Amino acid sequence: MGYVDEVFETVKAKNPNEPEFIQAVTEVLESLRPVVDANEELYRKNGILERLTNPDRQIRFRVAWVDDKGNVQVNNGYRVQFNNAIGPYKGGLRFHPSVNFSILKFLGFEQVFKNSLTSLPIGGGKGGSDFDPKGKSDREVMAFCQAFMTELCKYIGADQDVPAGDIGVGGREIGYLYGQYKRIKGLYEGVLTGKGLSYGGSLARTQATGYGLVYITDELVRDHGDTLNGKVVAVSGAGNVAIYATEKAQQLGAKVVTVSDSTGWVYDPEGIDVELLKEVKEVHRARLTEYAEKRPSAEYHEKKDANDHGNWYVKVDIALPCATQNELNLEDAKALVANGVKYVCEGANMPTTLDATKYLQDNGVLFICGKASNAGGVATSALEMSQNSERLSWSFEEVDSKLQGIMKNIYKNISAAAEKYGHKDNFVMGANIAGFEKVAEAMIAQGIN
Ligand code: NDP
Repeated sequence: MGYVDEVFETVKAKNPNEPEFIQAVTEVLESLRPVVDANEELYRKNGILERLTNPDRQIRFRVAWVDDKGNVQVNNGYRVQFNNAIGPYKGGLRFHPSVNFSILKFLGFEQVFKNSLTSLPIGGGKGGSDFDPKGKSDREVMAFCQAFMTELCKYIGADQDVPAGDIGVGGREIGYLYGQYKRIKGLYEGVLTGKGLSYGGSLARTQATGYGLVYITDELVRDHGDTLNGKVVAVSGAGNVAIYATEKAQQLGAKVVTVSDSTGWVYDPEGIDVELLKEVKEVHRARLTEYAEKRPSAEYHEKKDANDHGNWYVKVDIALPCATQNELNLEDAKALVANGVKYVCEGANMPTTLDATKYLQDNGVLFICGKASNAGGVATSALEMSQNSERLSWSFEEVDSKLQGIMKNIYKNISAAAEKYGHKDNFVMGANIAGFEKVAEAMIAQGIN
């Protein structure tokens, strides 16, 4: 049995109840085969794959807080510090009832390669809680965040581990978390990113993931002799990534006709009204029904159940899944291909199932996986860390132009890596190989630990 297969069997045996983690490891290890086969002795001698698939540490803690009725509530808190070979652990915090070690390990594992692709000095980690901020008052969210940080602060620091936002953790939550860190540690340091502008945040961080996704999509489209101008686009999600992907795509002349949330989706043939979407989601924190009520051209479709992905059945040129993991399955991929989709670039982390990815690639769809196409968010977080370290803040234009440069560079590197190993235009393989090579080199240089 080859090295890749041996390690894969061990990962499956040791993590039997972690399907998302196994899914992420499968995708990465499969695509690393050419580079691992070419250097098997070196990687085996250094235990590179075994070490890469085992987090440095997994932390789990109790978070007890008091709700508005005076009752004690208890949630699980987590931090997975996956790999710090090339820089301090860096990765978001997710607050969602589905959060568990399988999901956080898949996210942390992906983060290692993504962060490497940015070419910035950041390692990989992820954390969060099964706490659901939906329907909670501001005071309850603050109470939870303070209790969460009271424990988390023991394990993080500006040069150690720098968390950020993710699903359910936006500007409000980062503010409460930062306030509590500062209060306990007495340190005003860049320990969290995604901060507000008045206390060390970076301009363009809010937009970065969505804008970065569209910048790399633009590179992909141009590299294939095409243009974004006039393209019809399906976006899923209606959160941070989806909103700013929609905004940038429309600024570059494309028309986004769908967005979705966990209960339904909107088809707006005139193109999504981004300002209205921001008002509904960022200001009112409301459902998409409110968007449809205020926008005569929009049709609202209630989801029949969690597996209803009707939003992928609309005829589009480009699909940008920006909601959550496994939201685009094989049936959805077939519908997109039947409707003539040409490009799929992931804004969310692992939104496309493995069989759907394969189907898209086998049918000539140009596909970029999230660890490359959504890396603009963490890259801009790393730029926020740089600004905090030098006690300066850069202009929007400066950050945005660095982001554009980073996304162009990622496209160039993943494209070159795929071509080098004889798989031109296989950007999944290109992203995994390009991300892996740097981390493996740093791990070997630093000895066995
Ligand atoms: P938000 O919480 O801002 O938005 C998430 C959106 O997806 C919401 O519209 C939400 O609907 C929907 N959604 C969440 N869970 C589900 C589900 N189980 N089923 C259907 N819809 C769901 O998160 P972000 O936009 O920040 O993140 C979206 C994705 O992008 C995630 O995979 C995240 O890991 C990834 N990502 C985010 C980055 C960032 O900078 N924010 C960076 C890189 C990746 P509802 O409003 O109903 O909850």
